[in-house]
Formats: sequence, structure tokens, C-alpha cells
Amino acid sequence: MNVNAERLWRRLEALGALTDPGSPYTRRSFSSLHRQGRQWLREQFLAAGLAVSVDAGGNLIGRLPGEDSGLPRLGSGSHTDTVPSGGRFDGIAGVLAALEVAHTYQDQGVRLRRDFDVIDFLAEEPSEYGLSRVGSRALTGDLSAAMLAYESPAGGTLAEGIAAVGGDPAALDRPLLGNGEFAAFVELHIEQGPVLEKESLSIGVVTDIVGITRMDLAFSGQADHSGTTPMTIRRDALVAASRTVAAADEQARAWLDRPEYVVATVGKLDVKPNASNVVPSGVDMTLEVRCSSDSVAQSIVEQICEVGKAASEQLGVAFSSALVSFSPAAACDAGVQQAIEAACRQGGASYKFMASGAGHDAACMSKLCPAGMIFIPCLDGRSHCAEEWATKEQLAVGAQTLYDAIRLLDRR
Ligand SMILES: [Zn+2]
Repeated sequence: MNVNAERLWRRLEALGALTDPGSPYTRRSFSSLHRQGRQWLREQFLAAGLAVSVDAGGNLIGRLPGEDSGLPRLGSGSHTDTVPSGGRFDGIAGVLAALEVAHTYQDQGVRLRRDFDVIDFLAEEPSEYGLSRVGSRALTGDLSAAMLAYESPAGGTLAEGIAAVGGDPAALDRPLLGNGEFAAFVELHIEQGPVLEKESLSIGVVTDIVGITRMDLAFSGQADHSGTTPMTIRRDALVAASRTVAAADEQARAWLDRPEYVVATVGKLDVKPNASNVVPSGVDMTLEVRCSSDSVAQSIVEQICEVGKAASEQLGVAFSSALVSFSPAAACDAGVQQAIEAACRQGGASYKFMASGAGHDAACMSKLCPAGMIFIPCLDGRSHCAEEWATKEQLAVGAQTLYDAIRLLDRR
């Protein structure tokens, strides 16, 4: 193995120690802890011989110069912010693995043809300003003036927050990166699911990053006495809603044997009046569909809403649906997938091709350059919690795969 597993692990522990002591592991974007973490990371970048900068979007970048800085460069990274009471690996593993790869090239005198950027994207997780993937949105020009004016509960705008971490909000009215500036981007991340661990595999070669459709569904019936109102004349909003929940489950399961990745979830449901002896008069619920194909997602959402409408009509309930948000699916580049697969073979790491059910910075990067992702297993598939865990060896195998994949991509 080329990479230094011990050094990578020590860095992971050091960054994990920079947490809100009352709710480990918390290092929210734009907080003083996050700034401390970045100061530490900046020192680590310098120790690895990288040139450090912060771009206008507040992304912290460590650059390992290649032989020809005129060539489109290579990039790898993730994020060092966490959700409240999150873990030590989500995002962090990707930044530190990329740093370890650059540090190893430097130690061993491996000179890449291309510059190699190690990137800590700003605020991948939903921030206090109510927006996620702030830094990678800036790269693609997807930070609107309205978004930059979002305010945190403490006061102050997102633009001010970006300026406070060294960014330049005035430059964000256009994409920070053009197409062709990067030859390839690879993000290492914990899987955040149970598949690799269950199948005893070391690496997931990501094929697609799902698109996410979120809907608000509302059912409006009539509140009545639960003892005296016959079943035949009830207008029970929850019965209509529950048939819709079941339809979401059935629709997603129908795709289990197909190549497309589909999951559907009703995770939030408000019942009115929510009393044991009253027929429910109203239900507001969310529907989230995540899918590797935007057209499949659209047809599934339509079919679930059709069931909601039909069940509501049958029960004398009013039904309405509204789109809350949509982010499109992103396909990982075939050439990057091949390089990761070749790196797995080279290092003897077991692997499988799989979709990512979670959103990542790499989805934004895929709009700008050939992009891909390396997943490593995580214990019990747990993530966004203090129990989030991968072993030193699992992390090192992932970093070694990244090391080999970047070298292969550099030669293309
Ligand atoms: Zn993440």
C-alpha cells in the first residue's frame, strides 16, 4: 500500500476531536468550530506541501502542482461540516483521503502531469441559512441572489457568511468554474448504507447519484364522532393518505429487479385533529422519491399521486399535491468509473457498481467535468449519528483506490 494508513487515521481523529462537546460530533458550517477545523486543515495542507487558497465560494483548496499547470487539472475532496450530532466520517473521510493521496505523491516524489486539487467544499450539509451544497453550487453558478440573501436564525445573510470564511459573494453571479477546467473529479465517501458491509465488499464504484423529488400532499376530509359515524359515510382523510403511503412503497418496490435505483418515503405526516375518538379530518404529508432516472421518478410520482387522487375521490376527501423541490439525478462518468474499477483490480480490492441514494458534492462537479465516486463501507450502514464508523483499514483501502485512480486518470 502506498498511502499512510496511520497518518490518515490520526488526522481523522484530530478533526473528530474538534466537536461541540455537548453533542458529538457536531461541526456545523459557518460555526467557530468549523473555522477551527479549517484552520487545522489549512496547516495539514501546508504540511503536505500543498498551495492553499479559498475560492469565491468559500471552498478551501490545497493544490499539488503537476508538471504542466496548463492542462485541465484533477480534483478530489468532500466536506468537513457535519449535521448536528453527526459523525466523524461523512465528508471528512473524503477530504482527508484526498489529502493523504496528495501527501503520499509528495512524499514519494510522484509527479503528476496535472495539478491535483484537494477540495473542502463549503457547507455540503443543510446550513443555518437553510441551504445545502453551498460551495459546490458556487462552482456551477447555482447560487442565486435570492439564496445569497437567505438569513440564519442568528441574523446575517448567506453572502455575509461566505465572506466571513474568505469567499467573495460579489463574484458568485456566474459559475466559478468553466467546463474543461477539470479533467476529472473523484469523491471518496462512506456509503451511508448497509450494502457493501452486507456483501463484504471494500469499494463501491458509484454509477449514478440519485435525483430527489419532494412533494407536499394534502388530504382534507371531515372530523366526526368515531363511535356514531357509520363507516359508509365517513370522509376519513387518513385512510386516503394511508393508501397513498402504501402506493409509494409498492411503486418503489416494483423497481427492485430493474437497473434503476428507486426509493420512496413518506417521512412526515401531520394528522388533524389527531385524537383517538375523532375521524381524521386532515392529513398533510411529504413524499420523497429518489431515483437514478429523472423520467422514472416523474412517472412514479405521478402514479402515487393518481392513487392519492382516486382514494380521495372514493372517500369524499379533497386531495392536492405541490412540488416542493427537485434536484436532477447525476450520472457518474464512464471513464472515471473505469479508472476506479482498474484501481480496485490493481490494489486487489473487492468492489461492486452501485448507485448513491444520497446527494453529494460530486453531483455538482459532474456538471463541470467527468466525475465519479468511491464508496467505502460503514458499520451497520449508520450515518448522520455519533455511531457512524468505518475501520482504519477500510478507510486506507479507499484512499489507496483513490491514489491509483487519480494516477490512472492523470495519464489519460
Ligand atoms: Zn457527505
